[in-house]
Amino acid sequence: MIAPAATFPVPPAAPIGVYVHFPFCLKKCPYCDFVSYARDRAAIDHEGYADAVLAELDRRAEVLRDRELVTVFFGGGTPSLWEPRALGRVLAGVRRAASRQADEVEVTVECNPSSLDEARARALIDVGVDRLSIGVQGLDAGRLAFLGRLHDPEGGLAAVEAAIRAGVPRVSADLIYGVAGGAPAEQTARESADEARRLAETGVTHVSAYGLTVEAGTQFGELARRGRLPIATDDAQADGFAAVEEALGGAGLAHYEVSNFARPGHEARHNLGYWRGHDYLGLGCAAVGAVTGYAEASGLAHHAARWRNWVDPARYVQAALGDAALGDAGELLDPETRLRERIMLGLRLGDGLDLGVAARSLGLEPWTAARRRAAERLAAAGRLAVEGDHLRVTRAGWVFADGTAAALF
Ligand code: SF4
Repeated sequence: MIAPAATFPVPPAAPIGVYVHFPFCLKKCPYCDFVSYARDRAAIDHEGYADAVLAELDRRAEVLRDRELVTVFFGGGTPSLWEPRALGRVLAGVRRAASRQADEVEVTVECNPSSLDEARARALIDVGVDRLSIGVQGLDAGRLAFLGRLHDPEGGLAAVEAAIRAGVPRVSADLIYGVAGGAPAEQTARESADEARRLAETGVTHVSAYGLTVEAGTQFGELARRGRLPIATDDAQADGFAAVEEALGGAGLAHYEVSNFARPGHEARHNLGYWRGHDYLGLGCAAVGAVTGYAEASGLAHHAARWRNWVDPARYVQAALGDAALGDAGELLDPETRLRERIMLGLRLGDGLDLGVAARSLGLEPWTAARRRAAERLAAAGRLAVEGDHLRVTRAGWVFADGTAAALF
């Protein structure tokens, strides 16, 4: 595994987020390509998994040295299944290991409605959680069943309301649009907008809205390969995207990233860290981390190490509690690769990115002749706004954001 050098060239107190992966769900959804395994709550070794993550943290604690911890994100999987006491032990360990912490460290837990009620939300607050991201996904019973979800529309809304009632300061909900199955007809833009509006009315401060994508290696992927999955057309997806944007905008949630909407000040800070290219320490089974960690003297300044832990939970736990490798060899990211990733992710943001700042922070010049020509071409086509070194995908060009970014590589 690639290990960051002991001397870090990153500026003192550079921001860092910590991601903790919890790899279990009550049931595997047919569209899901995250690393998650179906497991009953009682069959999970809650404390044992926390012990393993804390043991890994001990081994990687150097990464947190001299950086400012700004966010902790428990993702999955379904971390709301994890006993709050065990999750809280991990959170406390992370905070202890961080030599500096932001004034308000954002601590998010991803939840499913089937494992979240008011008592659990309070228990999570008690251990230091201040943000819940709830997988509501939809408010139509037939489509939720098609998506293989364990909850119905009432259950989704009840979970959001329980979180708000418990006093969770920031509550986000996930929504999927462009679902063609589970109801007599393809989901219309108007139906997607209605669901978004009803979700916003609950008082959530953030919504992540995604078009349904079909990934190879999932149950849906296999059905699609055999031509047996109803799939929304690209036009229906684009109409759903526009309708959700309009509905959430009307409800006071600004569209700040391609798939994300927030009331002012309620943007997802952890994800903003990814989009802005900040370092992150990944902990847990299948977790990914990416850390700038090479000393100037090594000749690898501005490079980063990226690793992924073993995806099999038993193998991960055994490795973490022993002293075996936590995953296979990581990769070394050179500055050019990192800049391309910064462009790809930064252009997903409504504010765009400052190419000059991003490039120079990696020791690179922002403009090559080819990139300049591509930017001029994209600007002329109305897809990109260019002001000095600042790049932003135009509203009309948002559906082409990934292609626009790739053209600037
Ligand atoms: S609940 Fe979420 S992580 Fe778990 S299988 Fe379903 S989509 Fe995947």
